[in-house]
Amino acid sequence: MAPSEQRRPALAVLTSGGDSQGMNATVRAVVRTAIARGADAYAVYEGLQGLVDGGDRIRRFDWDDVSGIMHLGGTVIGTARSADFRERQGRLRAARNLVERGIDRLVVVGGDGSLTGTDIFREEWPGLLDELVATGELSAEQAEAHRQLIIAGAVGSIDNDMVGTDKTIGADSAMHRIIEAIDALASTAASHQRSFVVEVMGRHCGYLTVLCAIAGGADYILIPEVRPAPGWEDELIARLRAGRAAGRRDNLVLVAEGCHDRSGTPITPQMVADVITQRAGEDTRVTILGHVQRGGAPSAYDRWMPTLMGHAAANEVLDAGRDHVSQLIGIRGNRVTRMPLMEAVALTRAIPGLIEADDVKGAMDARGSSFAEMVRVFEGISKPEPVFPSQGTRIGILHAGGLAPGMNAAVAGAVRFGISRGHDISGIHGGFPGLLRGDVRPLGWADVEGWVVRPGCELGTSRTTPAPEQAAEMAAALQEHSLDALLVIGGHRAYAALYELAPLREEHPGLQVPVALLPASIDNNLPGWEMSVGADTALNEIVKAIDMIRVAASASRRAFVVETMGRRCGFLAFLSALSIGAEEVYLNEDPPTLARLNADVAEMVAGFRAGRRFHLSVRNEEASEGYTTEFLRQLFTEESQGLFGVRAQILGHIQQGGTPTAFDRAHGAALAATCVDWLTGQVLSGRHDWRYIAVVDDKVSTASLTKMGDTYDLEARRPREQWWMELGEVMELLAKRPTEPVEPLATADR
Ligand code: ADP
Repeated sequence: MAPSEQRRPALAVLTSGGDSQGMNATVRAVVRTAIARGADAYAVYEGLQGLVDGGDRIRRFDWDDVSGIMHLGGTVIGTARSADFRERQGRLRAARNLVERGIDRLVVVGGDGSLTGTDIFREEWPGLLDELVATGELSAEQAEAHRQLIIAGAVGSIDNDMVGTDKTIGADSAMHRIIEAIDALASTAASHQRSFVVEVMGRHCGYLTVLCAIAGGADYILIPEVRPAPGWEDELIARLRAGRAAGRRDNLVLVAEGCHDRSGTPITPQMVADVITQRAGEDTRVTILGHVQRGGAPSAYDRWMPTLMGHAAANEVLDAGRDHVSQLIGIRGNRVTRMPLMEAVALTRAIPGLIEADDVKGAMDARGSSFAEMVRVFEGISKPEPVFPSQGTRIGILHAGGLAPGMNAAVAGAVRFGISRGHDISGIHGGFPGLLRGDVRPLGWADVEGWVVRPGCELGTSRTTPAPEQAAEMAAALQEHSLDALLVIGGHRAYAALYELAPLREEHPGLQVPVALLPASIDNNLPGWEMSVGADTALNEIVKAIDMIRVAASASRRAFVVETMGRRCGFLAFLSALSIGAEEVYLNEDPPTLARLNADVAEMVAGFRAGRRFHLSVRNEEASEGYTTEFLRQLFTEESQGLFGVRAQILGHIQQGGTPTAFDRAHGAALAATCVDWLTGQVLSGRHDWRYIAVVDDKVSTASLTKMGDTYDLEARRPREQWWMELGEVMELLAKRPTEPVEPLATADR
């Protein structure tokens, strides 16, 4: 058969169960990947019910049907719970509706219920088809052509409650909503010295609660995974009293929906509030956040991550062979992963049993490696009293390099976690120059109250760093202030300066104190770590700004060139382009050439001629010396042939000034705890390594600064290999509508 005579494979995508922000990005990616690969794409409206109903609830989608949907909350193709799909009769109709359209591949975005239901459907499929042939509703040829149903699932759930993926689609946006609410409550609570008990969603999962408790500076949490023993009320009251005694003006308790005590009795927020009112005499209010958590625009993460998942899910069903096992498409450490769907569902469904058996470790482990760590960090930073006896160690903290949102959360985390470990903490004001000037002041538990929320950085930062000639001066300053260890929270400047100083430790015994480097930079250009503190906030600020630009531009035909920060690292430009669905991205790593600009202009003009109203290019500030943002604006204007206007927008410092996201706050605090633990080990064993936070063997660990040059290009100021660079193909594929008809995809023999 000639390729053009081949049957086009067809897939359908649907969103089911509870809605969540980011589902639209998945739908877009599935549809466009299918079309770009020569398959037909269908969208099923109203979830599994749409499969049963058929008719115009199963619609063929073209490239433009998924344009301009990524920034919308919820799901544009609708979702529903379907009683009909639970019945075989309903699934029989669903099978007929699919086969009639030639569809035998499904991408389902939903919770474990939807994924289970779909897998049952897959299992029954051959039998359903036999029945439809027997009743004459399908011909034998039709059935024969679609003998097997292929499934891939992605989890849409704000709860982050699924085994097999680090994050579910919507959880990050929900954290944005929760933190907005908690920040607002915190200011009124502090004004009135009130206590607030806030209920956070997550039926069996405390993920949102734990992360938002760290990010929001809560005193106490109750989560489903840990059913408190009788007497938990005493612990709660003691914790709140200790907080007040240490200087807090308010109390904040987060309670996950679905908490029970050891006897299986539900713990409601009102019960918690009553305990606080009666036993501590505090004016206590309850806030149930409810569906607000599902609402609003998706965060940057809930645009790029579901995009990658949708792309992978479409490929999964298009490439599947005869022995295909339904797969769950997930994400782990910024990489798309796959796992047998029903294995993931079974492991997820086992968790409530572990909780009921009070197997806390089992339940926490099932939630993934970072969950237990986050609980440990929260416990460390929320107890004002030291948990460990005094170590007699003084840890100095300073910033170096550019400002990164979340620096304050990292310092506050380090101070409180450090105090819990029995250390004395000193804040060094104004970076390295501050250390040399002697601007070193003790930081107590109460001194950092409210810092997690604050943008900017309270200690101040400086791009001025000590040159090797100043080694003796540095050594003297460390000794003068009796600093036994140093925690440096910053970016490239910090890393580069300490890298140069590190070999001088032999000559200068005063430099022989352990130093930990915590990555904080909006540029996200540091070695060892894929997402430095501040990068997520900057990305969200860029995405918000571009959302506004898009709206402002919609009244007329416009091409925009948006310039992002990042120096020679393209992370911000690339990830924001992927998150927003930009048509073009210009990076220093992949600089614009004349030939490329020629092709881009031709495509832009053709697009506007065909009816396009908006075109977006994102340019990294140092993408090219000659082809500047202004050059691009002029070039595009000259070539626009009067079809469209062109505007350039340099985003500038709004990228540094955002209120830190929950992710940046919680990860800042968690990394600070890792640094404190490592510094503690160094001091106790009399060592003085200088190391930076890094992933080693898939775990959060540290790497030696002296070997940094192996993986880090000091001149270009970026890692030699950057994880996101391999996403270029996905970005290109989803941004560019195929200009030629795509040959039908040759599919695996099934
Ligand atoms: P979620 O997908 O968010 O977990 P639900 O558990 O409500 O949400 O499931 C959504 C839909 O999936 C249900 O309304 C039903 O149509 C379908 N479903 C769930 N479980 C099954 C099952 N065991 N058999 C068939 N369909 C199911």
